[in-house]
Amino acid sequence: MNITHYITVEDYVAVAGPQWPSYEDFVKGNYVANDNIRQEIEQFVVDAKQSVRPVHQLFFGPIDKNLAHCVTAEDYEQGAGPNWPSYQDFINGAQTTNAEIQNEMNLFKQQHLTQGEKFPINTATACQSKWTWSTIYLNQLSTASCHRVNPISFELNEFDNFHNIPKKLADRKLMLQGQWPTGGCEYCKQIEQAGGWSDRQHNLGIRGLTPPELLINPTEVSVSPRIVEIFAQNTCNLACIYCNGNLSSRIEQENLKFGNFYKAGVRIPVIHKPTAAAQEYFDQFLNWLDRNVQSLVRLHLLGGETFLQHNLMTGVLDIIEQRPNSKLEFCIFSNLNVPDAAWNKYIPRIKDLQTSGNIRVFDLTASIDCWGPEQEYVRSGLDLEKFEQRFAWASEQGSWLRLNVNQTVTAMTVRTMPDLIKKVDQYSHTKHIGHYFQFYTGNHLFQHPKIYAWSFWEKDFERILSAMPQRTVEQQEAIPRMLGLRSLLQQHTVHNFQDITKLLVYLDEIDRRRGTDWQKLFWYLDIKNEFS
Ligand code: SF4
Repeated sequence: MNITHYITVEDYVAVAGPQWPSYEDFVKGNYVANDNIRQEIEQFVVDAKQSVRPVHQLFFGPIDKNLAHCVTAEDYEQGAGPNWPSYQDFINGAQTTNAEIQNEMNLFKQQHLTQGEKFPINTATACQSKWTWSTIYLNQLSTASCHRVNPISFELNEFDNFHNIPKKLADRKLMLQGQWPTGGCEYCKQIEQAGGWSDRQHNLGIRGLTPPELLINPTEVSVSPRIVEIFAQNTCNLACIYCNGNLSSRIEQENLKFGNFYKAGVRIPVIHKPTAAAQEYFDQFLNWLDRNVQSLVRLHLLGGETFLQHNLMTGVLDIIEQRPNSKLEFCIFSNLNVPDAAWNKYIPRIKDLQTSGNIRVFDLTASIDCWGPEQEYVRSGLDLEKFEQRFAWASEQGSWLRLNVNQTVTAMTVRTMPDLIKKVDQYSHTKHIGHYFQFYTGNHLFQHPKIYAWSFWEKDFERILSAMPQRTVEQQEAIPRMLGLRSLLQQHTVHNFQDITKLLVYLDEIDRRRGTDWQKLFWYLDIKNEFS
């Protein structure tokens, strides 16, 4: 029960003694240690509960089919007042003749209905993203649920089944049994086993994403996606050192120029994209979207650089205009570095979509990992000044646009992450800016910071955590996720010299190709000589 429902701040102030805690601390249960005062407070609570006996009768109105999915017994236990009906009666449409209590109940009910259904599966490993999220790599003819796990190829003639390919069904069945799937979910498993807070755990609390099939059968594994994320073409103006030719046309061109590279276990392959097939998958995707956009909650477009992918942008925006979905959160990941012509072509059109009610909101997610020359090296081709101009502009926009940053954490980005966090905080005073981050996952795992012993990063993580603002609930929620990353690194107590050597070989090769000098910026990564 929520104590504020029967002891208001006015009630408290009228009774509280001089040494009692503030109302806020009282509500949180932060009582003083003094036994006498504690007993006074506890007696006050008992009296208050007994004195609230409004005369009322229950009667039953229509049943809201979705109510039990949105208000769980646990929600009710935490939020219901002392004179409310039982949970079962509430779910069965109970109302009361007492107008004050009924108003409280209506407000509580409306808040939960607006937030949407709670993901109903609660085994030890169940992950909402496994059921709700599909990432499709159109030019790799593959898909994954979620975006962290290894993509699996799927057939063009079964395009509509992309969310329910055999591997995804098998993973969901394992999760129903409380087991971890392999092939990428180790990312969350390792964070949880290290005592951290994983994406899986964070995402379980997000409401309104449950596939409709689970509302009928809470153990269903073949379901409709609510979040679809598309990597379409690889057209991109940047060549981030943790990216590859599948996702960046600049890297693709660079690899063609320099050819296959293989040295000391480091491989940079020339990739031949399935261009004709990718076009067929792209066409099928637009076809699928046209039929299904109105059932989605989120649609993400990712790179290469989305604002440079004109077929994708035009195709998707046309569909949304013709098939509006006022609940849709439309998200574009961008490096905020595209030429003005592309930016100015699409941004006003997206704003119109939101102001006309064709989408709920536009999520602009800025891909940025750290700050300064280190970031311009890692995200090769990035003009940080231009990035900041667009970022500042976005932070001044009204409610049609939500702004986020998405960081990839690698051995080259950790040290200047605090500078990025401070920069984001600087622009957060007029608008909330979502802060998302994850470790690098990919074929070059020697870029992961875990190749160095935890002691190498300890001070950096102190600076990162102390730079993270905690003014808002969302900012506070980012802290345990960052602690999750820290917990994983803390598991690595010795340097992995084999991978450190690979990293240095890789950076040498990047420098050879780009005429850069990693040692000027990342000299501290070269620790192999200290121990030889
Ligand atoms: S990687 Fe994590 S968030 Fe993604 S599906 Fe697996 S458990 Fe869920």
